[in-house]
Amino acid sequence: MRIVGGGFAGVVTALTLLDRVDCRVTVYEREAAAHTTLCGEGLSADTLRAFRAFDSTPYIAETFEQASWFFPGDVEFRIHQRGHTMAREAWIPAMAAEVARRGGVYRTGVKVSAEQVREMAREADVVVGADGPGSATRKVVGGNHETMLGIQYRVAREGRVPERLEFYTDKTYSPEYAWVFPRGGMMNVGLLASGDGRDWERLDRFMKDKDVTGKVLKREAYPIGFFGTKLQEGNVVLVGDAAGLTNPITKGGMSAVVYAADILARCLRDGRVEDYAARVAAHPISHPSFAPALAAIRRWTNDDFAGLLRYAPPVVDVVPGQSTERRHALRLAASLLRHPTEARDILHVAKAMGVARAYSW
Ligand SMILES: Cc1cc2nc3c(=O)[nH]c(=O)nc-3n(C[C@H](O)[C@H](O)[C@H](O)COP(=O)(O)OP(=O)(O)OC[C@H]3O[C@@H](n4cnc5c(N)ncnc54)[C@H](O)[C@@H]3O)c2cc1C
Repeated sequence: MRIVGGGFAGVVTALTLLDRVDCRVTVYEREAAAHTTLCGEGLSADTLRAFRAFDSTPYIAETFEQASWFFPGDVEFRIHQRGHTMAREAWIPAMAAEVARRGGVYRTGVKVSAEQVREMAREADVVVGADGPGSATRKVVGGNHETMLGIQYRVAREGRVPERLEFYTDKTYSPEYAWVFPRGGMMNVGLLASGDGRDWERLDRFMKDKDVTGKVLKREAYPIGFFGTKLQEGNVVLVGDAAGLTNPITKGGMSAVVYAADILARCLRDGRVEDYAARVAAHPISHPSFAPALAAIRRWTNDDFAGLLRYAPPVVDVVPGQSTERRHALRLAASLLRHPTEARDILHVAKAMGVARAYSW
């Protein structure tokens, strides 16, 4: 196996294959050392448990019992699900070292071109493109994906520190959402950018409004790949942001990497590498509700959200294993009756948020 890209997707896929398939793995990373790209670093305990090929617990920076998603109209969806923030700057290099310890090869300083991917595909059983949103491997696979810029400050932990991971859907700051994720001695505070040149200004305003007062230690931006249209051409397959597999609603990408790596390992064990793209398409990480839900989330204004959530209680508890829609059936019905033209989209958003809760972080 050749894996192009030694970031999160590259090392998770390498370890999953080394763990589950009898194979030799070489990872090619263009930078001089294994490193992390920009990330909010939020991950559910369920995803961490699903990634069995490596003991990631030493790299947990902080653990939370809940996450809160705030919407206009002062409605909080409180998600009762354990999650973490991860110290990726240590975790990814540790996984790269583990690839080598288990007999794989992790080569640094090798920038692979599309032409080299074609050569590799002739020589190796499988080539995995894990080379991120600007993937060279995608040029061989074909298709495309959408990208959106995420911007983030790393902030010293001072003043107000949230007890939960906080997400804010509020068009004042972002066309999608902004976040405050505490992680050990600091906090990741960011937003999904509109790209109009005023996103940093909006992030400053977000920090002020949400009473995040710590000193800014770092300021970074990086694209996120989602809605990938093609994941495979013969024995060349894509994972992670190269595949555009990041969840379109939450823009959480690590969970999709864990599930896609698992699917790839199963395909290889079954001798059915050709089934990879179809099996990913059939998995909840590619749920069909995501596209209409994201379109609605982008279209709805703050007033729309407040109107749609008019009958919701101030805190909606979301409990895994229990249907939130069923528990609030009367309130949901009232909202659907009041907004008949939005009814389909309300249901798409409810479905997509539910699937994203389980499979996107
Ligand atoms: C601001 C922001 C916040 C986010 N927050 C979260 C979050 O809280 N939770 C979550 O789950 N996800 C989050 N994500 C998404 C998550 O970070 C990504 O989905 C994930 O890091 C993608 O990993 P990857 O390995 O596919 O790509 P990348 O991280 O881009 O890694 C690609 C690797 O390939 C290497 N490479 C690239 N081209 C080549 C080449 N030609 N040859 C060799 N090597 C190459 C790069 O150097 C890099 O190491 C966030 C993203 C952003 C931008």
